[in-house]
Amino acid sequence: MDLLVDHHCHGVVRRDLDRAGFEALLTEAAGPAPGTSLFDSAVGDALRRHCAPVLDLPAGAAPEAYLARRAELGHAEVGRRFLGAAGLAAVLVDTGYAPEPLTSPAELAAAAGAEAHEVVRLEAVAEEVAARGITAAGFAGAVREALAGAGAVAFKSVAAYRVGLALGGERPSAADVRAAAGRWFAAGGGRLADEPLHRFLAFTAVDIGLPVQFHTGLGDRDTDLRTGDPLLLAPWLRAVEGSGVPVSLLHCYPFHRHAAYLAQVFPTVHMDLGLATHNVGARAGAVLAEALELCPYGKFLYSSDGFGLPELHFLGATLFREAATADLARRTTENARRVYGPSKGRAPC
Ligand SMILES: [Zn+2]
Repeated sequence: MDLLVDHHCHGVVRRDLDRAGFEALLTEAAGPAPGTSLFDSAVGDALRRHCAPVLDLPAGAAPEAYLARRAELGHAEVGRRFLGAAGLAAVLVDTGYAPEPLTSPAELAAAAGAEAHEVVRLEAVAEEVAARGITAAGFAGAVREALAGAGAVAFKSVAAYRVGLALGGERPSAADVRAAAGRWFAAGGGRLADEPLHRFLAFTAVDIGLPVQFHTGLGDRDTDLRTGDPLLLAPWLRAVEGSGVPVSLLHCYPFHRHAAYLAQVFPTVHMDLGLATHNVGARAGAVLAEALELCPYGKFLYSSDGFGLPELHFLGATLFREAATADLARRTTENARRVYGPSKGRAPC
């Protein structure tokens, strides 16, 4: 089995979970409707089929038996089993979203027997800088300095969640950034949602020279899926392609054919099907085939987007291996090492 580089994932929770807690992390849904279960879905089927045997249960075990066995083993052992079984060479961990304590990149990687790398969320850094009480005039410089010193292997933008992906192709001027920061601070700071500032962050990431990941497509209910189509990012992609800095479009579903088109026509653009792969379960092969209609094989990356449950890191890898040829699986690891690799003095991935 070739080891995969999971180029975008998150930590897992540090606690045992009851049924409601488990279902809350299984999908990005706010919760099941009364009288229904999120196990009763494509991801639930895939979980019972592929994950139950890792906990020594028969494939297809009932949710009650699965959760009882999970509780019996405890979260640390469950994490070791699934992360170890995922077959990973490296994990690139987005540390910018942690509504509760999660495993660190080093802890996640140790459980997986993989190398650890950190992906730093642009907006989280901007919000931290803003919370220091900096002036609007000092904002741009302080953000640049914080990002350059963050020790990241890549940056991630959540512009899709905040203002949508229609970022302009014009670099905001220093005056534009100062004015936008002033408006934001005057409104009390907090959660950033201002198109010129998201655009400033994305240009700053490219200036630093690290790959930039963009959330696109499906996510939780906070994202407006209508403005999460990666095609909206084309003007910005055109503006930065001369830099040669790689851009990775994450998740992409249901716009994976649009992302594949961008990956075909923009030399710097790459894509993955993280989050989508485990959500569509047995349909992972069909969705991958649609992405590969246009996406060149050298531009496709593997990620799980696993968050909270180690099952998701394992399921993503397992369903991807089942859907992809051995050659493509190997290629995604080579692609990740090229995209996030040691060029420009970066730490090797
Ligand atoms: Zn993610």
